[in-house]
Amino acid sequence: MESKILTTKTGSRAIGSELPETMRAWVLGGPEELTLIDKPMPTPGRAEVLVRIDAVAICATDLEILSYGTPALIEGGAPFNKNFTPGHEYMGTVAALGPGVDEFEVGDRVTVEIHAGCGQCKRCRMGMYTSCHNYGLNYGDRDKGHRANGFTTDGGFAEYAVNNINTMIRVPDAMSDEEATLVVTAGTSMYGLTELGGLVAGESVVVIGPGPIGLLAVAVAKALGASPVILVGTRESRNEIGRQLGADHVIDARSEDVVARVKELTGKGADYVVDCAGVETTVNQAVHMTNRGGRICLAAFPKSAVSFDLGALAVNNIYLYGIRGEGKSATHRAMAFMEAGRFDASLVHTHTFALEDLPTALKYARERIDDAIKVVVSNQPGITGGAKEK
Ligand SMILES: [Zn+2]
Ligand SMILES: [Zn+2]
Repeated sequence: MESKILTTKTGSRAIGSELPETMRAWVLGGPEELTLIDKPMPTPGRAEVLVRIDAVAICATDLEILSYGTPALIEGGAPFNKNFTPGHEYMGTVAALGPGVDEFEVGDRVTVEIHAGCGQCKRCRMGMYTSCHNYGLNYGDRDKGHRANGFTTDGGFAEYAVNNINTMIRVPDAMSDEEATLVVTAGTSMYGLTELGGLVAGESVVVIGPGPIGLLAVAVAKALGASPVILVGTRESRNEIGRQLGADHVIDARSEDVVARVKELTGKGADYVVDCAGVETTVNQAVHMTNRGGRICLAAFPKSAVSFDLGALAVNNIYLYGIRGEGKSATHRAMAFMEAGRFDASLVHTHTFALEDLPTALKYARERIDDAIKVVVSNQPGITGGAKEK
């Protein structure tokens, strides 16, 4: 990871009338090239606010964007060399209001979801705004009102960002900045279970893959009353967090026959499976561990074609769903669980670094240094960086 720091001035923490004219922001040059620069302060439009970013979590999708560009889409193409600021899992403080906004006040603590759909296409009208047909169509003389900060518009590796009011969730006083950055991840897990449909209380859920979305899917499934909740993973440090978040059983994929073990634990197989890995082995495991009439959610984006037992899916009347992001206001439902203390999402947060140290933070996330899971970059003063205090 190459990076240059062009500015050394102390960061701005201003809100309201004290706002400076520029802010510090990381921008993407070519692949893997991030530079910290001064950018003009963005201005919120109608139904938008300016958010002072207090903390932003690093997601596997950020790492993908830095390497390959996709799924970011800027001005109809790859996001490279377009003065684009990535980062999408952030929280902060309302710093200014756009015209007509009375839903929030300057000083409110908020966390954000990613997608502000256009509000006019067929999918947005169904609440599926993460599947908006106008994704990325906001440049030149087109203005569809769509934003996906950190994907199609400037994101959170900066001091400030503009957000549509529909993407904002109030943060309770007692919740830490770091935990609040995890609401969108928990919301994605929630959306996966929402799309699978039905009440999961008393039904079995298997989660394959203990990354942040998988671990929080365990937590959300447990909070929804699923029983048993089974986690399939390989890294013991992550499996242990899965137990703490509510997994009734953990299957070690390295030493156990995963499908046989799920059948042993559930009788006829799992009612719901959330596959957060999306590779040939796990997709086939998912198909073979699901009981007749059961449901599978793919919560990963495989990079190439995956071969799987389609016949077993058809003959067993199994339903297969993809999900994209955190639609249908799932973040608000995830926040309700987190505010009520139904699970401790902060267990997946492992490290915090200062905004200036973003390249180090990205390296920790990418290489899983020191068993890193969720690495957070903070704009709060005095952050020295490293592992979370236990
Ligand atoms: Zn993400
Ligand atoms: Zn739309």
